[in-house]
Amino acid sequence: MGLGSEVKTSSFMSDFLEKCGGCALLDGRFATELERHGADLNDPLRSAKCLVSSPPLVRRVHLDYLDAGANIIITASYHATIQGFEAKGFSKEEAKALLRKSVEIAIEAREIYFDKCTKGSWDFVDAGKPSRHPVLAYAELLEEEAIDIPAWFTFASKDGIDVVSGDSIFECASIANACKQVVAVGINCTPPRFIQGLNSSIRKVTSKPIVIYPNSGETYDGQSKQWIPSSGRVDEEFAEIVIEKWREAGASLFGGCCRTTPNTIRAISKALSNKSSAVNDA
Ligand SMILES: [Zn+2]
Repeated sequence: MGLGSEVKTSSFMSDFLEKCGGCALLDGRFATELERHGADLNDPLRSAKCLVSSPPLVRRVHLDYLDAGANIIITASYHATIQGFEAKGFSKEEAKALLRKSVEIAIEAREIYFDKCTKGSWDFVDAGKPSRHPVLAYAELLEEEAIDIPAWFTFASKDGIDVVSGDSIFECASIANACKQVVAVGINCTPPRFIQGLNSSIRKVTSKPIVIYPNSGETYDGQSKQWIPSSGRVDEEFAEIVIEKWREAGASLFGGCCRTTPNTIRAISKALSNKSSAVNDA
C-alpha cells in the first residue's frame, strides 16, 4: 500500500471522532430487534435470513438505531457467509450479491436518515467476533488484498482476561494495532463487568481509539434456550457505566451487542449529551 492510503486510514478515525464530538455511538443487537418486529430467525442463516426474506425490515432496524442516536451502523452480515447461502440453495453469485445487499441496505438507511436530518454516519467493515485466532489472518487479508476501507477488530471475552478462543487479549490487540488499515480496536459481546479490565489491557498495547459494544450482561441458559434477565434499569445502568467508567478510561466508540436495543443506544446518547452539556456549562 502507498503512503497516501496509510495517512488516509490513520487520520480517518480521529477525523470521524472529532466530527462526532469526541466519541461515537454504534448500534445495538440486530437480531433481537428483527425478532421484536416479528421476524422468525429460527434458521441457520439467523439474521442474514432477512436479507432474503425482508430487506425493508433490515432497513427499518438500521433506521431505528440511527434514530436512537447511533453514528455507526453495522451491516446485517454477521451470519451471512457464501457457504451458508449455498447451503440454502443459492448459487455462489447469488450469495455474493446477498452479501453486497447487506451493505447496500445499510447505505440506503444512512441516506434516508441523512435526508431526514443533517447528521451523518459512516460505513465500516466490521471484522466481527473471531472464534479461532483468526486475528493475524484477518490482518494479513486486509494488507494482502490492499483493502482501502478502514476496519476495526473487536474481541469477545467470557472471563474478562482472554478472548473466547483462549488467546491473550494483549496478543490479539497487538496484532490489530500493527495493522495499518485497523483504525480502532476493542471489545464486543462481553458482559459489562469485564469491560473495564479488558479496556485497560487493550490500552497498554495500542493508542488507537477503543471501541466497546458489550452485551447487556444478562446470561443465556443454553438448556432452556432463554435469557435470564438481570435486575431492571438495564439501559440506564448501561449508559451510566459508559459515561462514568469506560469513557473516563479512554474508550471513544460505544454501542451494544446481544440483548441491547434502540432504547439502550438512546440511553447512552442521552447520557453522552448530558455529560457534554455539563462540561460546556462548567
Ligand atoms: Zn452479542
